[in-house]
Amino acid sequence: MTEIAFIGLGNMGAPMAANLVRAGHRVRGFDLNAQAVAAHEAAGGMAAASAACACEGAAIVISMLPAGTHVRDLYLGAGGVIAAMRGHDALLIDGSTIDVETARAVTEAAAAAGLAMLDAPVSGGVGGAQAGTLTFMVGGEAAAFARARPVLAAMGKTIVHAGGPGAGQAAKICNNMILGVSMLAVCEAFVLADRLGLAREKLFEVSASASGQCWSLTSYCPVPGPVPNAPSNRDYAPGFAASLMLKDLKLAQQAASAAGAATPLGAEAASLYQRINDAGLAGKDFSAAFAWLSTQTREAAP
Ligand code: NAD
Repeated sequence: MTEIAFIGLGNMGAPMAANLVRAGHRVRGFDLNAQAVAAHEAAGGMAAASAACACEGAAIVISMLPAGTHVRDLYLGAGGVIAAMRGHDALLIDGSTIDVETARAVTEAAAAAGLAMLDAPVSGGVGGAQAGTLTFMVGGEAAAFARARPVLAAMGKTIVHAGGPGAGQAAKICNNMILGVSMLAVCEAFVLADRLGLAREKLFEVSASASGQCWSLTSYCPVPGPVPNAPSNRDYAPGFAASLMLKDLKLAQQAASAAGAATPLGAEAASLYQRINDAGLAGKDFSAAFAWLSTQTREAAP
């Protein structure tokens, strides 16, 4: 049994914290949204009135917040987690998907206060958070990773030590850039097949066992039919929302720009997902790119 502070009890954080409670840990939860804290209490956790209160007596602090700015505020702000934990032998784990720069800056501030910290973004979505089958991509020191592992195992199935501070965030945005680009490629192929009069089932049958095969096609097919549990069969209810794909593609572009990496397809994917979000599909699954592309017409060739 470990004393855990859990901060950020949203769509992902709430079921993750509930799995920690189920695994027998004492989990003190805090969220700016009082209803989320009440739901955590109803699920067997303990309520805290502030982040600092949640941290009292905790051996491990876990956060699950929307973006880098929230993470900076939570850890670095006055009355923040680092100030609250200074002098305690605690481990800090941020599971949010944020920019690499913020992850490294917060880890450095934690180290300066004598605290170990890991960046541990996840994939697997709300379904994976509920089922306790998330994949954790973890950046930070090996000793801190070894200490975190049993606790992460209560929330996830695959736990990968990706490297030093920021490596977890780097792995997450590189993977999701592959996903965004490959999903758009599969969507475009189905749009073209439609216009050429090629049956969707036939394209699926061919490409599923040919060189075009990829996860976006065979596990998450963006056209209804071939993969029964894919969001395309339920009017693109997420799944993984197009707004979150846009967020991750923007993080990838921010990192590519800072690192001087050439990622032209990643840049194009970010710009297409911006248009998909602007078209009112932000809350739909990211595979709704197919529905949006189907409504577009080819611009005159330059
Ligand atoms: P969410 O918006 O549902 O939850 C975030 C929670 O953080 C909210 O309840 C909010 O009130 C709380 N919060 C914000 N600032 C706070 C602060 N200073 N103190 C306390 N609470 C605070 O978001 P989510 O879907 O749970 O996503 C969390 C993170 O996980 C994001 O970084 C997201 O990109 C990532 N992620 C989400 C999914 C998904 O499918 N939802 C999948 C993988 C990764």
